[in-house]
Amino acid sequence: MRPAAETLVSQLCSNAGDQASLKGPEWRISLWRGEFLDPRTETAYRQHVSSITALQLRWGLAVWALLLLVFALPDYSALGWSTDFVLLLVMRLAVVGCIGLLYLQVRRTPMHAVNGVLTTLVELIGLAGFMLVFFLRPEIVGWTFVVVLLMLFTLFVAIPNRLGMALAVALFGAIITLVAMHLVRPRELLELLALFLMLLFPVATGWISAWRVQVLQRQQYALMTLTLRSNRQLQDEVEQRRLLQQQLQRQASTDALTGLYNRHEYERLFAHELARSLREQRPLSLAILDLDHFKRVNDTHGHAAGDEVLRRVARLCRDNFRAVDIVGRLGGEEFVVLLPDTSLAQAGEVAQRVLEQLRVTPIEVGEAVLQVTATLGLTQLQPDERQLDSLLQRADQALYAGKAAGRDRVVLVQADGSMQMLVG
Ligand code: GH3
Ligand code: MG
Ligand code: MG
Repeated sequence: MRPAAETLVSQLCSNAGDQASLKGPEWRISLWRGEFLDPRTETAYRQHVSSITALQLRWGLAVWALLLLVFALPDYSALGWSTDFVLLLVMRLAVVGCIGLLYLQVRRTPMHAVNGVLTTLVELIGLAGFMLVFFLRPEIVGWTFVVVLLMLFTLFVAIPNRLGMALAVALFGAIITLVAMHLVRPRELLELLALFLMLLFPVATGWISAWRVQVLQRQQYALMTLTLRSNRQLQDEVEQRRLLQQQLQRQASTDALTGLYNRHEYERLFAHELARSLREQRPLSLAILDLDHFKRVNDTHGHAAGDEVLRRVARLCRDNFRAVDIVGRLGGEEFVVLLPDTSLAQAGEVAQRVLEQLRVTPIEVGEAVLQVTATLGLTQLQPDERQLDSLLQRADQALYAGKAAGRDRVVLVQADGSMQMLVG
């Protein structure tokens, strides 16, 4: 493992404990099969590598089939068009046929390449078929033996298969080679033992090479999975923080009961609208809306009912003022509304519409159905005016006048203090 990867592994180990590190039970690898011991991990790994393994296997099979066909030429030059040659050719074609079928299966279903059963079957058929060469061309037993040695090694490195299965096939190949050589010419026990040791050599080296590759690939997969997981965790954390921040921002800028802007926020928004109004020479109006006889609601139906009424009225204001209007809670049962780009007369019309809507909207609180009205004081920003408080004061005077005059009305106040009542 490279140092960078090692550092990553140790970080992952120390950060998340054994469960989420390469030492976790999920990632344990079998010593002789070179596969994950945890079946779920192994299945996921095989799925992950199925398409690349299928591609490698198809290449391996194509080369194998080609070699089988090419080596028919030396057969022909040695045997001519004889029964022995035809027998060997039939064997070669039969094995090539099996290889072709496996090739097609793997192309259709790549998972066949990683579960190994069909590969193993074709390898067994191929090796068994190859033994025919010992019998039909006894004059080149030595060469054939060398070819077997090469085949046993390449079995591990050129044809992707599960390690346990490849080992079983290779041992089977070694044993039938001994049997075939003994049948062609009976040999002493010592010679057989020597031959067996020679056959074991490519099996052992092939197995070790393939084992190293299999284990390394799985370790890489484990690292990749752990990295992806910690990335996902990090993303989740970032998202949670973002939501939390949003929530905090909302809490800091809105009133908890009604969800309308709180004083701090509409002061900020007023400054913004003021600057825009001055820059663009556009009118800006401000209203204070105060519920009529709200104390009675509390006294008659309880404070919780009063709260519910405040929530409903807040929603009604949000829905019935225009989207550009800024609605906040001034405190108690008083709401403040900023109406950008709106002259006093236009604001009066909007306000009347809202009061009318409030008048005709029954508010259900528990068993009771309440009819709520409000009085609204309205004023417009003057050319030399810069303070929110001065606007609020004027609107409040209009509101006071509206209450005194009988409530449930809009009162417009001019800069010179003159008032105009709009009764719905
Ligand atoms: P008016 O028509 O003159 O405005 O009469 P009013 O009863 O609405 O006026 P007043 O200002 O005397 O009463 C306001 C009441 O609103 C007093 C207080 O109990 C109630 N109030 C203030 N804040 C809240 C709140 O957050 N929840 C509830 N339920 N009541 C509140
Ligand atoms: Mg009040
Ligand atoms: Mg009131």
